[in-house]
Amino acid sequence: MTTATQADAAGKVNYEFTHTINGKAETSKTSFDVINPATATAFAQCPDATKIQLNRAVASARRAFPGWAKKSFEERRAYLHKFAAAVRERSEELAALITREQGKPLSNALREMAGTANSLEQMANIELKDEVLRDDGKNRISMHFRPMGVVGAITPWNVPVGLASHKIAQALYAGNTLVLKPSPYTPLSTLLLGELSRDILPHGVFNVVGGGNAVGQWLTKHPGIDKISFTGSVATGKRVMESSSGTLKRVTLELGGNDPAIMLDDVDIAGATAKIFNGAFGNCGQICMAVKRVYVPEDLYEPVLEAFAQLARNHRVGEGFEPDVQMGPLQNKMQYDKVLDVLEDTKRQPGVRIVAGGHPLNRPGYFLEPTIVGDIGDNTRLVTEEQFGPILPVLKYTDLKDALARANDTTMGLAASVWTKDIEKGAKVAAQIQAGTVWVNHHVGSEADIPFGGFKQSGLGREHGVMGLQAYMEPQIINVPLQQ
Ligand code: NAD
Repeated sequence: MTTATQADAAGKVNYEFTHTINGKAETSKTSFDVINPATATAFAQCPDATKIQLNRAVASARRAFPGWAKKSFEERRAYLHKFAAAVRERSEELAALITREQGKPLSNALREMAGTANSLEQMANIELKDEVLRDDGKNRISMHFRPMGVVGAITPWNVPVGLASHKIAQALYAGNTLVLKPSPYTPLSTLLLGELSRDILPHGVFNVVGGGNAVGQWLTKHPGIDKISFTGSVATGKRVMESSSGTLKRVTLELGGNDPAIMLDDVDIAGATAKIFNGAFGNCGQICMAVKRVYVPEDLYEPVLEAFAQLARNHRVGEGFEPDVQMGPLQNKMQYDKVLDVLEDTKRQPGVRIVAGGHPLNRPGYFLEPTIVGDIGDNTRLVTEEQFGPILPVLKYTDLKDALARANDTTMGLAASVWTKDIEKGAKVAAQIQAGTVWVNHHVGSEADIPFGGFKQSGLGREHGVMGLQAYMEPQIINVPLQQ
């Protein structure tokens, strides 16, 4: 396994990454380059699954389904705990591969791996109980949750293994079998996770296939798939929903966010700016629930802007393996170009102030300085779109009602935060924001026992918690007459 993460002097990883189909390794005749975003050069190859291979993966998952569904929650819990232990044991290797293909600092990749193991365990610790809905002497009506069948999971490139782990844990613990397709930008760590599972899970229960967007589309159209669990952009989410409709697949969509942070006038400036900064620039701004806009009372505007600027100037940007680095590159050229385009549009806005950053780094790779933007209008791309990069607009307000209206004036509604010394007031303001999760004095976080998902176009359904688990199952009503 070690060779999968070790690079030669030229930075290349000479390892044959494979799909996991029916518990066995498979290669493909064709493969594609995987790029290290810190150097903008290819470092390894990902096998590109054919339709026949995808069909085989779905068929093996179908064959494995009845046996897996028959196992008790306790039995499936034991498997997932064993998988979590194996992940923990290999987390340094997996983390190194994440840093190489995704770009994030190694310390963050290690956190992603710790989160992966925790998520596999925590989800499998949830107790799902049958419910008696009526028991009145005439009828006993109860509700039970049954496994659905085969789940198709499709994941993005920002948190490749962490986000995959949520889907693996929920799908398998619920009693379904799984075919998982990672993003073509960051497929290798997930392929390695599949490799790791081969000695632990019964064959066919967990399949991983590498490939481009076409493989994702085949999965959403496949008649052998019962549910699609998708995490990615709003635009792709809509396409996924459309192509899943052919066989009325169940869908869970975890999509984008344009998440506001609202500071109230009693805020602790130093504490809040530091936390909001981390919430905005973690993973180079490439987090669905990251802070994407900050609203600040007019009287506090200049000191807050300067505090953010100081944090940005001191933030260490570099290759993920460099010691003490806090932020890596953007993950891929397409995203880098998109963020640079938003930056150029921002610079063209009348009266705008770039108070820190604003430039790419003078080195190979997709690096951009952490950038703080002041005095920008509401109707600009930086404010209305999900920038998904290291640029933060800081916006002024005079009236809280007006700030709330502006925060809610978006088609998205994933997450948000309110910042104040008065926790009760914070909770009241939080309730007025249209978003699936609103934190007070905190931003960004995900726990396996707490439901997560978006209002409006940020998604459909929820992942995590009992609610998330139930979304991977079919509720069944058993209605028994007690008198004949
Ligand atoms: P993307 O939508 O471009 O791709 C996501 C996945 O979908 C990839 O595996 C891709 O190959 C696949 N895909 C592409 N076209 C497809 C199609 N027609 N049918 C089926 N599959 C297809 O997203 P991305 O750029 O990889 O990720 C970034 C986006 O993900 C951002 O908008 C971010 O906010 C969002 N995201 C959301 C969450 C959440 O939990 N809500 C978490 C992380 C990222």
